[in-house]
Amino acid sequence: MNTTEIKSLYESFVMPTYAPEIALVRGEGCRVWDAEDNEYMDFIAGIAVVSVGHCHPALVRAMREQAGKLMHVSNLYFNELQPQLARVISERSLGGKCFFCNSGAEANEGLIKLARKWGHDAGRHEVITFSNSFHGRTLATLTATGQDKVKKGFDPLPAGFRQATLNDIESVGIALNDQTAAVLVEAVQCEGGIRIADHEFLQNLRTLCDEAGVLLLCDEVQCGMGRSGNWFGYEASGIRPDAIAMAKGLGGGFPIGAISASPEFSDILTVGSHATTFGGTPLACAAGIQVFQIIEEEGLLAQARDLGAAFVEGLTPLCKQYEWVAEARGVGFMIGLELTKEALGLQQILAEKGLLSLATANTVIRFVPPMTVSEQEIKEAISRIHDACAEFQKANEESHGADII
Ligand code: PLP
Repeated sequence: MNTTEIKSLYESFVMPTYAPEIALVRGEGCRVWDAEDNEYMDFIAGIAVVSVGHCHPALVRAMREQAGKLMHVSNLYFNELQPQLARVISERSLGGKCFFCNSGAEANEGLIKLARKWGHDAGRHEVITFSNSFHGRTLATLTATGQDKVKKGFDPLPAGFRQATLNDIESVGIALNDQTAAVLVEAVQCEGGIRIADHEFLQNLRTLCDEAGVLLLCDEVQCGMGRSGNWFGYEASGIRPDAIAMAKGLGGGFPIGAISASPEFSDILTVGSHATTFGGTPLACAAGIQVFQIIEEEGLLAQARDLGAAFVEGLTPLCKQYEWVAEARGVGFMIGLELTKEALGLQQILAEKGLLSLATANTVIRFVPPMTVSEQEIKEAISRIHDACAEFQKANEESHGADII
């Protein structure tokens, strides 16, 4: 099928919750091809999902082998891969136990339920979240999200959420009360426009949660799984949360989410209190185990740190060159180019130049490439971004001229 045919089929049978223009049919490493065989550098990676690149041979092999052996068993039975993946996660995060699910929203729902169950007898049920945060599209997680646009039309929203301002510890103090069960924070807000939680803020948040006797939860759905240059985004600040949510990069493209708790909070969710049919299937866990192995064997944490910094450095001159480029910033392979204007037009020009990116929070172009991206590919991407900015400038000058006329 060509793109026009695919689009027409979509319009007839798929609910219009997305507005795609490009039909992707094939991928390899950090490149993808559309239905007309045009090649793109995929610097959005399924929105931070394709952590080890498209069709990584070791991941494909592990999944093929497992698919031919046992894809799914209910959680009524043990499957040997689930505790193996749980151990891998535990040893790289909080040293306790995991619960497996299928998506980021579902992982955050699990964190919220854990916090509510933990606080229940003490009358603590509220969760404090932050401005510009993003936690998912279920009713609870969209209520937790600090962006009004995702809530429109869905009221009445679930009770029990309060909002504070990122990097403003006083605002958390104001939101805290004797009904607070937990604070939920992203170390790097990606959907929010690559906004970084200050290390000092996270350290003060840990202290405040300890003093108030409430849980500190981290949403690592996008900034986790090595993308920050550490396994998890909270690590750089030296804090230790009580439980975290992860998904996206965990399966390298196969859906899997998880929560990981510290030992003290590992037995709050018990038999009958939480479950999901597809959580932690043999196939999903085979993918997760392989993703961890690839990241370790190929040294991708260091790569995220080093090449991520080189990428930001390569974009920084744009701030001097164009008055509408405000800042290039990032942590590891989460990079944002903040404009002083609507970013969608630049995203479109970038796609025409063969580089997929994502306009986020209106004015920010987000790049979250596969962690396997090479130095050469980063250089190539930087060059395409410079070219796209030049074209965006030209288009703006022309449209400005037209306005005057
Ligand atoms: N949390 C964060 C930080 C996210 O970035 C996202 C998705 O972008 C989610 C939660 C929701 O994940 P999902 O779309 O898998 O439900």
